[in-house]
Amino acid sequence: MLRYSFIDRFNERAKKYVMPIETPVDKAIYKPTSFFSIPDKEADVYKFKAIKYAFRHHYENNAFYRKLCREKNVTPDDIKSIDDFVKIPLIPHEFFKEYPSGREFAVWLANIMSIELPKVVIKGKNPTYDEVIDAFKEAGIIVAYSSGTTGRFTFIPRDEKSYKMAEYSIAKSAIDMLQHWWDYDTYAYLLFPDPRTTNIYVGKVTAVLFDLVKDARVAIETKITTDLLRISMGNIRNFKEKMMSKFIRSAMKKMNEKMVNKIIKWAEERDKNNDRIFFAGAPFILSMVMDKMEEEGISFDFGERGAVLTGGGWKTQEDSRVPVEEFRKRVEKFFGIPSENCLDLYGMVEGNGYMVHCPQSHMLHIPKTYFHPFVLDEEGDPVGEGEEGRFAFLDAIPRSYPGFIITGDKVKLKNSCECGREGYVLEPEISRIKGEEIRGCAEEMRRIMMGG
Ligand SMILES: [Zn+2]
Repeated sequence: MLRYSFIDRFNERAKKYVMPIETPVDKAIYKPTSFFSIPDKEADVYKFKAIKYAFRHHYENNAFYRKLCREKNVTPDDIKSIDDFVKIPLIPHEFFKEYPSGREFAVWLANIMSIELPKVVIKGKNPTYDEVIDAFKEAGIIVAYSSGTTGRFTFIPRDEKSYKMAEYSIAKSAIDMLQHWWDYDTYAYLLFPDPRTTNIYVGKVTAVLFDLVKDARVAIETKITTDLLRISMGNIRNFKEKMMSKFIRSAMKKMNEKMVNKIIKWAEERDKNNDRIFFAGAPFILSMVMDKMEEEGISFDFGERGAVLTGGGWKTQEDSRVPVEEFRKRVEKFFGIPSENCLDLYGMVEGNGYMVHCPQSHMLHIPKTYFHPFVLDEEGDPVGEGEEGRFAFLDAIPRSYPGFIITGDKVKLKNSCECGREGYVLEPEISRIKGEEIRGCAEEMRRIMMGG
């Protein structure tokens, strides 16, 4: 009965993220004891109802999405089984990057949304992105973002319920794969910006960690704004920003050194006290820590007392990508943490499905009860089993925007894993698709939405 007790223990700790069960989507999130280990047959019942319900919701409540459906000649009544999911119109990810500035940005956000927008009060004639985001937050809408290497952002608005469900799902997915290890009596280090002072999605959604372990601290304490992020990505607009970027770079360098030293000192204390430790976050931060440990000849042997969950970091570090397997070997060497306890999570700001390594084979398992994956060729047609292509998905969680999205990520999808869990998995090496985005789709979406 170990498995049963795990989900009870988890739900107890995550109870502030548990919403009343009212819709087929709520059922698909909160009823299953696992998103990964559930048999296909059982999962498909949840998934079909949840995604069909979500499709109807966006079709009925989102003018631009309905227009897209009409152009493609699809209505919710056409979705009679999972085989029909392929008919549900998908939105290219570029669409969420085509935002205007100032007050127009607020209008743009409102137009994306499939729910009645609460009253948003925006001060000033020409507000910054952060000011608009703060105004939405006042009204109960969390606008999270991430940024690509071009400094262009992806903005996604979530209502409170969708956001809580996203947090619940990331935690349930991660802890499920670590259930052989997870214990509340653990010290954690979050290798991300502080969720309480950032709207960067990876920082934001991981706030749930504070509820799953008895003690958690945060590596990056500085408040990071859209401007700071843009400038530090090298997207510089004027002389003042050029000076700022120099300053930011040298400040960042000093901050990084301080951060690395703090983490090593923390690990020394935890080691001395025989504590359990958990690193969660960007792999490049832990790589920096291990570089320093190597330099100074430091290593620990946490063994079964330690675990690592990486996320969000492999593709932004394209030039110096640490292969995932190599990374696990280093974690074992410097922290003594076995590879079964060193897992990666793959997700993105546009979606609320979190793919997590299984401890046995380190394949990325796809949550089965509310999230449906596709791999598409550049014409937008599904590719065959095991072939490479563009990742796309139907995500039932978000009420506030249609979560039916084509991403810019290149993946390989398989429908089995050696670990024995049924269902789809992605191979762990995920990269960006080079060159052209799917032609015309983004422009088509812009026209539909802006009417231009
Ligand atoms: Zn597996």
